[in-house]
Amino acid sequence: MPGKQPVTISVFDLFKVGIGPSSSHTVGPMLAAARFVADLERRGTLPDVSGLRVDLYGSLAATALGHGTLPAILLGLQGYYPDTIESDEMEQRLAAVRATGQVALAGSVPIAFAEDDIARHPRTVLSRHPNGMTITATACDGRELHSETYFSIGGGFVITESEPDQAGPAAATPWSFSSAAQLLDLTDRHNLRISDVMLRHELATRSHAAVREQLLHLRDVMIACEHRGISRDGYLPGDLRVRRRARDWYLRLIDEDPGRDPAFAEDWVNLVALAVNEENASGGRIVTAPTNGAAGIIPAVMHYAVHYTGKGTDPDDPDDTAMRFLLTAGAIGSLYKERASISGAEVGCQGEVGSAASMAAGALAEILGGTPRQVENAAEIAMEHSLGLTCDPIAGLVQVPCIERNAISAGKAINAARMALRGDGTHRVSLDEVIATMRSTGADMNTKYKETATGGLAVNVPVNLVDC
Ligand code: SF4
Repeated sequence: MPGKQPVTISVFDLFKVGIGPSSSHTVGPMLAAARFVADLERRGTLPDVSGLRVDLYGSLAATALGHGTLPAILLGLQGYYPDTIESDEMEQRLAAVRATGQVALAGSVPIAFAEDDIARHPRTVLSRHPNGMTITATACDGRELHSETYFSIGGGFVITESEPDQAGPAAATPWSFSSAAQLLDLTDRHNLRISDVMLRHELATRSHAAVREQLLHLRDVMIACEHRGISRDGYLPGDLRVRRRARDWYLRLIDEDPGRDPAFAEDWVNLVALAVNEENASGGRIVTAPTNGAAGIIPAVMHYAVHYTGKGTDPDDPDDTAMRFLLTAGAIGSLYKERASISGAEVGCQGEVGSAASMAAGALAEILGGTPRQVENAAEIAMEHSLGLTCDPIAGLVQVPCIERNAISAGKAINAARMALRGDGTHRVSLDEVIATMRSTGADMNTKYKETATGGLAVNVPVNLVDC
């Protein structure tokens, strides 16, 4: 059972800058491929490589085409990382690979390799995790130079077979916690808010200025993503022919609600979630929160916290609300990562959108002045009513139901926070119990509903391939 060790995950492990459309199927494989070529460089064998084999297993193979997994791997092999590559550069590099049939390993060793060379084994699931990937490099005499199996375990976390599931690199600190109960105990003993505990946890490895700068950078990337989503028109990539709606909604909303009447708050929250997830679906720059598919919920609810609550902001520090929001959400998200899973391939959408809604609900409750127990209650409510949520993306694209689901779940998070604040923090089901329930529900869930696009909407809604 995970969760015995204190939580060492940093808020910066949960919130990472990457590219769409999927943290586990795009960001993770790209990181794994980049790690592989970096290992070859470290071993001094990179110049000897003349053959390469990449095998994808389980969910990674089943939805590779819709999730952009194959181009992500090609970019990773060329030494690109998801947090720094620019969209234009991505397109140029991939066009060059398609034109030449070659990738330049680590940017320097050309080798014949293209998307079609990546072998997919959707029916073979490796025992460690449904998202498995093996890369093998050989010399011109057929000698194996290096082989490694990676697992993309959700939220952009990647581990090898020999590495532990715990992805947090930081050591335990006096402010580490292994359960919501321990987190509440820390807040009680030191008379702190949940965000204060998480901040102290971060300060064990970073200066206050660095924590602040990095959190505000994440906030700014989220907002930039929202703005890009609003600025674009047309169709999302893929055969579904899903039309972008954010721009149209924005133009109508700004006309109907120029003065930001609170009556329109829900519409703006929906818009932010829609814009971020449309941008994710088109492979844009995104903050995993805690995954790409669920990336619109935290920005949407944070937008609500900043613009509609009238609370939480330190008058001397207008950025205080966003910082505390992200710290509280990170504290809750670390519990899901450690005690259950944030991988749709492992536990279904409850682990992605459900976790994000829970994180956002707790964070909003704190901004609204909730006690730590009310915050824990809000997080619990949002997950309790996300239990069983399946992952069944049509055509394997992170579009339907994903985009609207983020907007719906942002609304759920706001409602959960408001419900929790009506109580005094006492409640029948604890956050720890609901996290354990999410984990066991995910274990019981049929594989069809765990990011394989073989059940639910993915098989009941025909994809019209006719261009119109
Ligand atoms: S259904 Fe949920 S878990 Fe599955 S791809 Fe969409 S957002 Fe991710």
